[in-house]
Amino acid sequence: MYLSALTMNKFKKYSQQMEAVILPIGTTEAHGPHCPLGTDFLIPERIAALIDSKMNSRILIAPTVNYGCSWGLKVFPGTINISTETMVRYLVEIGTSLLQWGLKKQVFLNGHGGNRPALRTAAQHLADAGAQVLVIDWWADYMPQILEICDSRGHAGEDETSVMLAIMPENIEMDLATANDNRVIGQIYTADISFTTLQNAMTGDATKATAEKGKQILKVVSNEIMRLIDQFSSGCYVK
Ligand SMILES: [Zn+2]
Repeated sequence: MYLSALTMNKFKKYSQQMEAVILPIGTTEAHGPHCPLGTDFLIPERIAALIDSKMNSRILIAPTVNYGCSWGLKVFPGTINISTETMVRYLVEIGTSLLQWGLKKQVFLNGHGGNRPALRTAAQHLADAGAQVLVIDWWADYMPQILEICDSRGHAGEDETSVMLAIMPENIEMDLATANDNRVIGQIYTADISFTTLQNAMTGDATKATAEKGKQILKVVSNEIMRLIDQFSSGCYVK
């Protein structure tokens, strides 16, 4: 059930019955020459929609956080970068409001690597305030399953491009898809290092992406997440 579609009275009624709230989180940033700038929030939104189609009466979907921590790609056109400090505060304030309305179990459904430090810090603050937060990085948490479908992964690489081909093929420019297997030698920070490491604002091999692989990834990942949310909802936190 989508929070954005409810009136305040309906929200008041349904929020009491919901087992958890999902907050899709991404960023707006360059994704190679072939994928749209919204890739990192469009994918969590689609995963949330698939979950909603199966768990509609049990799970509330909150409006997406579609700006995020994109320091690493801010040298590429269209990227909008939010600092980790601001992101932590923003997420804590969203989570605090959800908590105020009785939504104690919160799922951060993340589509962007640069958000990871902020999400973990925000989750800790919210946990201290009484929330229970499940943080999911879809591409990383289900990497073994994804690598059974794809040969490789990467930023705007085979996996992410495949999912985008499944979501909005008309916006993917596969004739511009490239490969980049540069690996940085260590944790090096310079203001423009992305020009070297993330040539063309991508890593991996996008040329191998197909919509069929993307559909399989979406199915596997959404099923795994639903299973996890079932456990999270029941309060069973260990295997
Ligand atoms: Zn991405």
